[in-house]
Amino acid sequence: MIAFLYIIALLILGMIFAYFYRRVLSFKKRYKYFVRENNRLREENKKIKRLAKIKSEFIAMTVHQLRTPLAKIKWILYAFINGDFGSLDKKQKDVLEGAYHANEKMVLLLKDLLDISKTEDVGLGYHFDKGSIETVAEGLIKSFSLAARQKKIDLVLEKPKERIPEIMMDSRKISLALGNLIDNALKYTGEGGRVEISLENLEDCVKISVKDNGIGIPEDEKEKIFTQFFRAKNAESSVEDGTGLGLYIVKNIVKIHGGKIWFESKEGEGTVFSFTIPFRGEDEIKKDVEKFIENM
Ligand code: ATP
Ligand code: MG
Repeated sequence: MIAFLYIIALLILGMIFAYFYRRVLSFKKRYKYFVRENNRLREENKKIKRLAKIKSEFIAMTVHQLRTPLAKIKWILYAFINGDFGSLDKKQKDVLEGAYHANEKMVLLLKDLLDISKTEDVGLGYHFDKGSIETVAEGLIKSFSLAARQKKIDLVLEKPKERIPEIMMDSRKISLALGNLIDNALKYTGEGGRVEISLENLEDCVKISVKDNGIGIPEDEKEKIFTQFFRAKNAESSVEDGTGLGLYIVKNIVKIHGGKIWFESKEGEGTVFSFTIPFRGEDEIKKDVEKFIENM
């Protein structure tokens, strides 16, 4: 009887051992598979980054090559309009002015194209470091002060009394984003208006807003405002220059920083664009960048 029980026990142990042995084998197989997949994805990732770099370099080179002849055309047209090659009648002047503006639009488009290429180049194009949002905003106020003065617009910076802690960001990209918002605010606000940039230190992020009392955004066009090449009708009719790419660039930069962007606007009264940059560590930045690439 005891011998029989021993045999049963041995059989059960054998079965348990066989079961676990099979599990271990399948786990080993799966582990090898994951290691292989991981290496493959790493290689793919390297390839994508290499291709993205080639693409960016190609765009940068093309933009550069196109800018030179456009600059030449600009000055030739300018000289004609200015009467340097003899006086022109009104019709001739109008035609040349049309060509001059078309040329300017092309230069603007190329600049935006270059910015987009740089801002979409997530893996290579971004360099996160600790930086001060106040320094970025103050620098922008200085560089836009002449444009503001020319339009007699009050350009002011509102910041909290206590210093905002440094934040992990790509300062150049954030300066490009905030610069685009200020550029819009000045562009879409009439003479004698006011543009206010404000910085707020919220618990887990910094909030940056640009408020103007300009033309505003029509209600029925609000949902398309971040779409590439979109320009609202009131903007198109009042300001000729513009490609409709600026806000798309801003949105990309804010997303890669893990922030949010939104606006409030009333046609004829004004607009406030706001975005946030969360206080994040390096690990969180990596995760946000991965999320951005996944959703691209
Ligand atoms: P660019 O690419 O040269 O900046 P743009 O200014 O037309 O051209 P975006 O900056 O992308 O393009 O803005 C898209 C559109 O959103 C504008 O054409 C305009 O209709 C609207 N818009 C943006 N900012 C404002 C603002 N502050 N006030 C009113 N409308 C605005
Ligand atoms: Mg713009």
